[in-house]
This record gives sequence, structure tokens and C-alpha cells, in this order.
Amino acid sequence: MKTGIIILVTFFSAMIVTAQSVQTGLAGLSNYRYAGKATIGELINGRYENVRVTGSSDFFFWKNNQLVLTKKGQQEIKSRNELMVELDFLRNGQKEQKKFRILNNRFHKNQVIAHRGAWKKLATTENSLAALAQAVKLGCAGSEFDVHYTKDDSLIINHDAHFNGKAIEDFRYAELAVDLLSNGEVLPTLRAYLLSGMNQYGTQLIVEIKPTDKGPERAASRARKTVELVHELGAQAWVSYISFDYSILLEVKKMDPAAHVQFLSGNKSPDELLKDGITGLDYHLSVFQKNENWIKQAKMNKMMLNVWTVNDEKNLRYFLAHQFPMITTNEPELLFELIKASPSASQ
Ligand code: MG
Repeated sequence: MKTGIIILVTFFSAMIVTAQSVQTGLAGLSNYRYAGKATIGELINGRYENVRVTGSSDFFFWKNNQLVLTKKGQQEIKSRNELMVELDFLRNGQKEQKKFRILNNRFHKNQVIAHRGAWKKLATTENSLAALAQAVKLGCAGSEFDVHYTKDDSLIINHDAHFNGKAIEDFRYAELAVDLLSNGEVLPTLRAYLLSGMNQYGTQLIVEIKPTDKGPERAASRARKTVELVHELGAQAWVSYISFDYSILLEVKKMDPAAHVQFLSGNKSPDELLKDGITGLDYHLSVFQKNENWIKQAKMNKMMLNVWTVNDEKNLRYFLAHQFPMITTNEPELLFELIKASPSASQ
């Protein structure tokens, strides 16, 4: 009888551990950027034991539950821009191994976020690899793009829910990709887009996860797949996530509590967002013009603050005057001109 109870207790404990590890999402670091301090960050999203640095111990060590760069590591990261570290650990009692890319923080410090890349002046296609490359070339602090989910669970880059008349969620990637973008590129996958963006260290990648009308499970699934891919490629240092669907952002945070997320819909105050652990807002320009106190509230709480989509000079000047750290625009060239002409309006 006693043995039976012990077996049962062991069985249920194992179930709880398994459930915990499913619920806690992915192993991650609290930070992925070197900004002059040797200590990079701690492991988050689980209970960790026996953490060991393997393979790159010349450059990193583990101390007081933190990943730390050696002196040599600090020199190397400045010359190479990025270093890979591999960690071995027990997480929630299970053995895991994970590689992380740590970047020298050389991201541009201007306010310019290119909306769907920088495509307009170049007369190329929005959300194309060429538009991303142009945003990088201009030196934009960030380049935004839109992620949809195909019938066969491929993540692809496109703004609308349709591509050349086909509903993206009702077709497989191969069926969609028979049509090229209007600039002749192949319909980009999120994988190709991230890999392209990770070839440089100045422009951050702003990933918009589009909502779906196919129910909450499909929405959660596209959020999970997106975060999994970002982790698989080691793109965490480049990426922040935005969405109109609040549940998608909550799912992203469940997968990776250190992820930078910004809500787009404009119907929650900064304080309401913070209560849910959403640390950024990226609202339509009219929302901020109606609720100027939200700008103050967001800044006081050191939240990520962004505005969309500001294209005319008058409104660009308004958001520069309000010292917005990020301004999303179809006119990145114009915004750069305005910043140059009145540097006091910029940060
Ligand atoms: Mg978008």
C-alpha cells in the first residue's frame, strides 16, 4: 500500500515538473547585449541548476548566477561584434543545452523606424528583403515587418492576410510562392528575413505578428512559432515584437519573459500594460495626440515608446518635439532630414 502511494506521488510530481516545463516556454537570458559591462545577464524562465559554460570558456564564465565576459571576451566582442556562448544546465530538473548570440551593442541611436522597410523612395516592394536592406543602408534604428502564418505553418512576411488574391492561411507556402513579389523577389519567409537582418548590427528588427480570425489557438501557435524561430536562430538581441492582438503578446511573454513587446491597438493606458508585463506601446499618432499624458506615463515608467505611422512633416515634428525614442514612418529619409535640421528636437 505504502509503495503504491510513493509511486503515485512520484508519478504526480513528474507530471507537475513536465507541466511546468511546458508552461515556462524557452530558456533565455535577461539580456543579450554588451554595453561596456562584463556582466551580461541571468538565465530566466525556469529553475536552473548546474549551469556550465561549454565551448567558449575563453570568453565567458558563469558567476553568481550571471553570464560574464572575460577580459579577453570583452576585447573580442568589440572587434567581432558578436560572440556565441553555449550553456549546459538542468532546467526544472531536465538537462538542456542552449547557444546564445551576444552582441556588442552598436545599434543606431536615432528614432527612425522604417515601416515595412524603406521601400517608398526606392520604389521597391514593402516588406521585401530589398526594403530591409535599404533601411539598414539608411542607418535606421529599426525596420518593421509583418508576419503571417500559412496553412502548413510557415511563417512568411507580408502585410495583408492575402497574397496575390490567395488567403495566406488557406494555402501552403509552396502554393503561395509560385507568385513573386512585385520587385521579383521570392515571397520571403521569416527565417530568410531574420537571417538577412542578422548580417548587420545597426538596425533592430521589429517583428509584427499579425492577428488571425481562425481562433485563439492559431493565434497562440503563430506567436510560439515566431519566438521559437527567433531563439533557434539566436536573433534575440536584434528582435522586438509588436502586435494588435494582446493575447499574442501575452503568449510571446510566456515563451520568453525577457522579450521586448509593444502593443499596437491603442486602447490600453501605459499603466494597464505594465500590470500585464507588457513593457512597450506603439500606438497610432492620433492616440498620443489625444492622450498626451500617456507619453509622460510611458517615459516615467521607462517603457518602449513608439508611434505609427507618421508620414507628414507636421506630425513628424510633433513627435520629435515630444522626444519620442521611436517613430515609425514610410518616409525615413524625410525624418532623417528633420532630425539633422533640428538636432535639439532629437534625443
Ligand atoms: Mg506592420
